[in-house]
Amino acid sequence: MNSQYLQNFDFTKAEDVPCKKCGANVFETVVTLKKVPANVSPTKKPAVVPIPIFRCCACGELNQDYYQQS
Ligand SMILES: [Zn+2]
Repeated sequence: MNSQYLQNFDFTKAEDVPCKKCGANVFETVVTLKKVPANVSPTKKPAVVPIPIFRCCACGELNQDYYQQS
């Protein structure tokens, strides 16, 4: 993992982003699938793309704040 661009950042001072449901701050990455219609797909064909989101390890709540829409 290349974290060189963050080398001057002190993570101990960073703000926690706890689970809204249970307050735990341990997440795992999961993916949700999205259908991309042909008219907006770069390949001009309908596609299903995986979108990474974070799931609380403690209660399973999905953190939609980090929903990556590209
Ligand atoms: Zn939780």
